[in-house]
Amino acid sequence: MALLPRITTLNVPELARPLPPEPLLLTALKGISPKLAERLRRLGLYTVADVLLHLPLRYQDRTRITPISQLQVGDEAQIEAKVVGSEVTARGRRFLLCHLADGTGVLTLRFFHFSPGQQQLLGQTGARLRCFGEVRQSYTGLEMIHPECQRISQDEPLAPDCLTPTYPATAGLQQFTLRDLAEQALEQLETAMLLPELLPVELRTRLRLSSIAEAVRLLHQPPATALAELARGRHPAQRRLAFEELLAHQLSPRRLRQHMKQQTAPRLAGDGDLTRRFLERLPFTLTAAQQRVFTEIAADLAQPRPMLRLLQGDVGSGKTVIAALAALRAVEVGAQAALMAPTELLAEQHYRNFQNWLGELGVEVAWLTGRLTGKARRTLLERLAAGNIHLLVGTHALFQERVVFAELGLAIIDEQHRFGVHQRLALREKGRQDGVRPHQLIMTATPIPRTLAMSAYADLDTSVIDELPPGRQPVKTVALPDSRRDDVVTRVRQACQNGRQAYWVCPLIEESETLQCQAAIVTAERLSEILPELRIGLVHGRLPGAAKEAVMAMFKAGQLDLLVATTVIEVGVDVPNASLMIIENAERLGLAQLHQLRGRVGRGALESSCVLLYRPPLSQVAHIRLAALRECHDGFEIARRDLELRGPGEVLGARQSGEQTLRVADLLRDQDLLPIARHAADELLRDDPDCVEPLIRRWIGAAARYGEV
Ligand code: ADP
Ligand code: MG
Repeated sequence: MALLPRITTLNVPELARPLPPEPLLLTALKGISPKLAERLRRLGLYTVADVLLHLPLRYQDRTRITPISQLQVGDEAQIEAKVVGSEVTARGRRFLLCHLADGTGVLTLRFFHFSPGQQQLLGQTGARLRCFGEVRQSYTGLEMIHPECQRISQDEPLAPDCLTPTYPATAGLQQFTLRDLAEQALEQLETAMLLPELLPVELRTRLRLSSIAEAVRLLHQPPATALAELARGRHPAQRRLAFEELLAHQLSPRRLRQHMKQQTAPRLAGDGDLTRRFLERLPFTLTAAQQRVFTEIAADLAQPRPMLRLLQGDVGSGKTVIAALAALRAVEVGAQAALMAPTELLAEQHYRNFQNWLGELGVEVAWLTGRLTGKARRTLLERLAAGNIHLLVGTHALFQERVVFAELGLAIIDEQHRFGVHQRLALREKGRQDGVRPHQLIMTATPIPRTLAMSAYADLDTSVIDELPPGRQPVKTVALPDSRRDDVVTRVRQACQNGRQAYWVCPLIEESETLQCQAAIVTAERLSEILPELRIGLVHGRLPGAAKEAVMAMFKAGQLDLLVATTVIEVGVDVPNASLMIIENAERLGLAQLHQLRGRVGRGALESSCVLLYRPPLSQVAHIRLAALRECHDGFEIARRDLELRGPGEVLGARQSGEQTLRVADLLRDQDLLPIARHAADELLRDDPDCVEPLIRRWIGAAARYGEV
């Protein structure tokens, strides 16, 4: 990327671009009935500019006629030929066949549904037809099934001189309507300043980007020669728009971050006494990676600006200790810390851990659970407001309810992937008191590939624990069909007789929690019958909180041998003596989730195994997934494969991507654009802040407002 000298005159304020006109509403186009407007709204189209950014999914080449002899099976093609005969067959299913010849070859049209009008048109021997459709091979020769047909006279000119677009549509919305609207919108593109150029000339020159108007025009009416490049999504016009969209997605969180960074946060830079004493009492020493990330975090916390840091670390890499250390930095200066966990189960586990670790150091740890009511709750909240509680642990209820801290210095979010991006942003608001914001540490075990992380977490600094505590052995993973269930039961029996503990996970079978719980209940009953000598416990989402905790506590204390569970145990649960996990219906789970589940074992020095039970036959994807899990233990590698199998939207999950779905860009296909967009975003924020807001509004609109303060 050659850096040209900046054209400084462009930055002179008087020359700032004129304010864009009010957006032109769809009603400015001809033929928009209320019904049509409603259908367009369903596609998210409100303005004429929206129509222009509603880009074709694919294109058809109707600019030329292909001689029948040159047709390739599988191609979409346009032919022109004469009817040489037709028939309606009534054997079995009724269908209409029409035989065509163009002097180079013959081809048959096949219709399973047809009107009398069509039958009449296609029955006229000698009639000249122009047909567009996919070429197929049948027993008797080449065919087109349900092609579009048009009767023409000799030498009728080909209508379009460009490719014919196919747009994303919705029920009741025809392609020709969308094509007509796009055409109308293009006519007004320049005169009505529908898509003013927002990228600085200098950036466009350097990256050799056309204007947005040129790109959009081309994508709605591309020349036939562009077909192959368009189909691959690599046409410069597509890349131009993808770049701008990715840029907007980089700008939005960064602008938010800039705003946050201008706020004040308490400086958490005490004498280090508590952290030192904590580390001395810890039964292990920190890994080098843990030490490094804690140094990074401590440096941020010492600043009077809010920390916004993502702590990534594979399951079992030891993030909880880091959370404790960070919390102690707050307590050392008399501030408070809050830790938010995604489930009550996990909140409780953290509470017990912190109570154990920090209680002796004189740190007051409290747990705000939904079950705490009446006087006990009031007392807790009073103590919190008075500053007598130093560390508060809970679920999102921590921030949703009227919880007032004396001085919240640090908010920690565990297993962020369980919360949405928006919840995370909303949280920042909740933590604000008197213009001072707490620092934020966000922890996640879902390692997402770097390119994805760049866009989902562009507002955060990142620390990575890329090392597991010593002595961990990879979890031996096997996939077995259901029919081997008896062998699996035997394995569980043996493991438990040897003093180990095991999990038996019954994941989501239906999209219903009730059914999921039922499956777990039934499985627990059956296992109790065949394994009467084992102490078997059961946890699922429908169990009252206290009962759930009691069972978990017993399992942790070694009073249960086997824990039958739903996926509630997917995140965070830590029982180092558990060394065997059985996952039923493993074929239905995604890679990342399987990796999370498997992460519940192999947390101590014991050799651990994981059995993936599946019901054959396995689909090809399920097969690849189970194989990947068998071969691979590194969360990042698993995430990369997951990305390949499922695509970015799925990997980030609806919650993660929120409304940030991309209209034009494809994170996988366009990943090479991401670092460029990232770099450009930094430049724009620094040198051309005026274009930031309009860019975000063009591509992200309402979604960006979530972060607005
Ligand atoms: P995660 O990153 O998945 O949240 P945890 O914080 O629950 O992992 O840690 C997993 C287990 O590893 C816990 O039992 C924890 O006490 C232990 N652990 C953490 N750090 C170390 C270390 N440096 N050496 C040995 N064990 C450790
Ligand atoms: Mg954890």
